[in-house]
Amino acid sequence: KQANLRKLVHEPSISTDGHRVELAANIGKLEDIERALQNGAEGIGLFRSEFLYMSRNTLPTEEEQFNSYKYALEKMNGKPVVIRTLDIGGDKDLPYLQLPKEDNPFLGQRALRFCLANPELFRTQLRALLRASVHGNLKIMFPMVAVLEELFEAKHLLAEERQRLLEEGIAVSDHIEVGIMVEVPSVAVSADLFAQHVDFFSIGTNDLIQYTMAADRMNKSLSYLYQPLHPAILRMVKMVIDAARQHGKWVGMCGEMAGDQNAVPLLLGLGLHEFSMSSSSILAARELITSLDQSQWSELAEQALQFTHSAAITQFVQQQLQR
Ligand code: PEP
Ligand code: MG
Repeated sequence: KQANLRKLVHEPSISTDGHRVELAANIGKLEDIERALQNGAEGIGLFRSEFLYMSRNTLPTEEEQFNSYKYALEKMNGKPVVIRTLDIGGDKDLPYLQLPKEDNPFLGQRALRFCLANPELFRTQLRALLRASVHGNLKIMFPMVAVLEELFEAKHLLAEERQRLLEEGIAVSDHIEVGIMVEVPSVAVSADLFAQHVDFFSIGTNDLIQYTMAADRMNKSLSYLYQPLHPAILRMVKMVIDAARQHGKWVGMCGEMAGDQNAVPLLLGLGLHEFSMSSSSILAARELITSLDQSQWSELAEQALQFTHSAAITQFVQQQLQR
């Protein structure tokens, strides 16, 4: 089994009817990149940049960040690298910043909200990213967007920093894609309004499920509500994919669901372009995808969306896979 999977390391991810998708890795630390490549990652679909800020006593400088981003881009050697800007707050604290205590941290000033409220800290990260952009295939992604104003403000700061760097004579790539995570239900259900303002979406199901079900993703007594295959989630995923495709944008998924063997056939059928997951799941996902017919799963996904419970959908997928 394992040896069969190893054979797929350098293979593309193509369905039996010739539909190609990208299987990418989620990473935190720079050391994870080597493992991603060994497991056949075709790109980095989520670089959780907050790990550069954690386990230390001060903010990382622009230079430190630049070196980390440059290293990742060079190591991936032209393959796409989606770097997510700082996603702090929620369950991830930075003790040295002494963030104010909030009653509901997951509903609080986390991620992009925090960055927009602390623009100097955000500008430092954006400058480091822009400077690193000439060293590979960088895509910048903003987390926890809820309304368009946040996206506009983030893009405005990015444009200002780009302009400043160019005036200083520092090279910046002119084809950096800029996208957002879809992890707040407001964005999922109005994805058509966001699509024209982004280059890509990446669906963050870990948070999207938490916020849709109103169930803390860390609370074990609520784990029964964590249902990736619930019709509500699948319908939102479909809305996001359809909106992106209608606007000619690509759409990925970087939540745990992207590597879930029961979800992958449906996601392939719905037309997801990029699946980003833990490195350890990539080869099994590739084996599965190369055994599936995309157009057939497109029809099966439509059928699955009519079921009322995730258990029924899971059973339906498994039955179809056994045929
Ligand atoms: C997500 O929310 O699905 C996601 C990928 O981000 P994180 O798990 O880092 O919150
Ligand atoms: Mg998230």
